[in-house]
Amino acid sequence: MKAWFAIPLWQRVIGALILGILTGWFWGPGAESIKIIGDIFIAFIKMLVVPLIFFSLVAGVASIGDLRKLGSVGWRALLLFVVSGQIAVWLGLGLGTFMQPGAGLDASSMSLDTAALERAQTRADQGVTFQNMILEMVPSSPVQVMADVNVLPLIIFSLLLGIGILMAKEEGEPVLKIFESGSVVMQKVTMIVMELTPFGVFALMAWVAGTLGLDALAALGKLVVLNYVGCLLIIGLIYAGMIKFIARLPVIDFFRGITDAIAVSYSTASSNATLPVTLRCAERNLGISNSVASFVISLGATINMNGTAMYLGLATLFGAQVFGVDLTWGDYFLISILGTLGAIGAAGIPGAGLIMMVLVFGQVGVPLETIALVAGIDRIMDMMRTTTNVSGDAAVATTVASLTNEIDRAEMISADDV
Ligand code: ASP
Repeated sequence: MKAWFAIPLWQRVIGALILGILTGWFWGPGAESIKIIGDIFIAFIKMLVVPLIFFSLVAGVASIGDLRKLGSVGWRALLLFVVSGQIAVWLGLGLGTFMQPGAGLDASSMSLDTAALERAQTRADQGVTFQNMILEMVPSSPVQVMADVNVLPLIIFSLLLGIGILMAKEEGEPVLKIFESGSVVMQKVTMIVMELTPFGVFALMAWVAGTLGLDALAALGKLVVLNYVGCLLIIGLIYAGMIKFIARLPVIDFFRGITDAIAVSYSTASSNATLPVTLRCAERNLGISNSVASFVISLGATINMNGTAMYLGLATLFGAQVFGVDLTWGDYFLISILGTLGAIGAAGIPGAGLIMMVLVFGQVGVPLETIALVAGIDRIMDMMRTTTNVSGDAAVATTVASLTNEIDRAEMISADDV
């Protein structure tokens, strides 16, 4: 038991992935019999969706209350977070559309829980009107919305609650405390569920390899590659561009300064766990003032997740291609909004992006079975998403610090203690 926990989770997951593929390969379609283990893992993930979004989003919105205190820093950071998040989702959508990661995979042999498909079909039959879409977003009964795991109105309710807490000022503080502590507690619960990952991954990979064969592995491999390409483009174009053209600082020195944060984020797959290292890099190596670094980077670790946003766009198209769901331009637009909101609502912990898929898939009629298909390879992709998320926090902090003269340029350029 002790020896098991002594191995870092990500290594156990990668081991399970390889073992699962081999098992499926030798066992063939019979491997379907152990899929139940994967289904249990996914059921636990679904369990997390509502409470995690609810607590994390309300606490996140309420923490924006400090924005006003920070004035010029606050609004600049928020603008950069939102704009880069939007570009990231569209990048994921673009990669998914042009590179077609799910095209070669025929999932017709999979047994489907067709609820999401039917919901999308009924919506299409009724004609998706703008009025209907707006009406569906209103959380007319918050409890019902939670019971139905209807995430979009849940997000609206959480945003309103967060704003209400802000408006109530001192009187809202006890409620804020509940949400802040609830969000920490839910992160711990998620950590417990994540301990099931090796077992779930083993069973899901054996099932995928055994029933869908090499085609499936090739499609999943392509998804992993595209996830890395998308993340590298975000880092190499958006962040490098931000540092060079907006902050007007040397790009190489920036990346040299955050090497530690990159290494820790990649191995932990958690923006939150990396937070102390990111802060240290920002202050010591990049020369950012303590007030800007601590504010922008802690807020960023909660709401700025461009790797996750890109992935939500990409994975939705993957699922749509695998299950033959036609997406309209309206759906693309919806995915871009949901991807950004999902990234904001995702906690900075391993597997959060996987949990957020429920949000996007459910709204555009992509079967939730897609989650079972990709769960086995999520960890490898999560590591790169997290590195992208963390680099983004540092890039925005550097840019905002440069615009508000809160950075010691000489220190950044001469920093060699990385
Ligand atoms: N693990 C990521 C993070 O902590 C979130 C995700 O799963 O995409 O930043």
